[in-house]
Amino acid sequence: MAVLDTFSLAGKVSVVTGANRGIGRALTTALAEAGSDVVLLVRDAAAGAEAAAEIEALGVRAAVVTADVTDLDSVNQAAEDAVAAFGRVDVLVNNAGTCVHRPALEVSAQEWQTVLDVNVTGVWNCAQAFGRGMVAQGSGTIVNIGSISAMIVNRPQQQPGYNASKAAVHQLTRSLAAEWAPSGVRVNALAPGYIKTEMAPVDNPEFRRHWIEDAPMQRYAMPAELGPSVVFLASAASSFMTGEVLVVDGGYTLF
Ligand code: NDP
Repeated sequence: MAVLDTFSLAGKVSVVTGANRGIGRALTTALAEAGSDVVLLVRDAAAGAEAAAEIEALGVRAAVVTADVTDLDSVNQAAEDAVAAFGRVDVLVNNAGTCVHRPALEVSAQEWQTVLDVNVTGVWNCAQAFGRGMVAQGSGTIVNIGSISAMIVNRPQQQPGYNASKAAVHQLTRSLAAEWAPSGVRVNALAPGYIKTEMAPVDNPEFRRHWIEDAPMQRYAMPAELGPSVVFLASAASSFMTGEVLVVDGGYTLF
């Protein structure tokens, strides 16, 4: 197979959680541009339908399934709905996430729990629900969206729960990769640096010094700049790679 053909996702079915906006929306577009049919796993069905219409304009099929990733029953139902729509699932991108900026002594029990529920249990729920079908069919790729926050402590904002949750995502990635490799399922993580979304207000002056000026490339990225990396991890282009964390951060973690 010619090298660029290994990146093709033609004939594949990909599921992206949190596909309505931000990074998830951009990753969904990238997978579709690589030829994959896509299932948008979202909480807001109306917003999902709008996003799906834009995806279909790229010439692939798109379906919307609703679930809260923290709720295992709704995730299991979404996995059934995705298979009912397109017959199988080949790629899962665990993108849904949340963050709370708060000093450790002021974080409420509810805030801690929500961050862990969405970022860790949500990834777990979806990996189990969709991984079951992948293991049964003997193939599949999972891309978990981790973070540089698993590797460094961000500043100036304090976000202890988020940092801990993303470290858990990276280690869960390795654990599932080892367990499912014999079944033909690869599991990798993508760890972005600062990307302009609602979660990361990169233009806010109070963050400029540490988020931008401290970074070797001295800039943030737009979500679309992660697209090629998710296609790489989702496709046969990364066929001998599993349990890895691909860091895409403009060099942020070098210092
Ligand atoms: P956004 O806040 O823009 O989007 C978060 C997405 O997650 C939304 O689509 C949201 O859905 C969805 N979501 C949140 N909670 C749930 C839930 N319980 N069930 C289902 N969906 C949920 O964030 P980003 O796009 O910036 O972040 C995407 C991922 O990238 C996250 O995992 C984040 O941690 C990670 N990341 C982001 C970085 C950045 O700089 N932006 C850097 C490193 C990692 P809804 O629209 O319904 O609210």
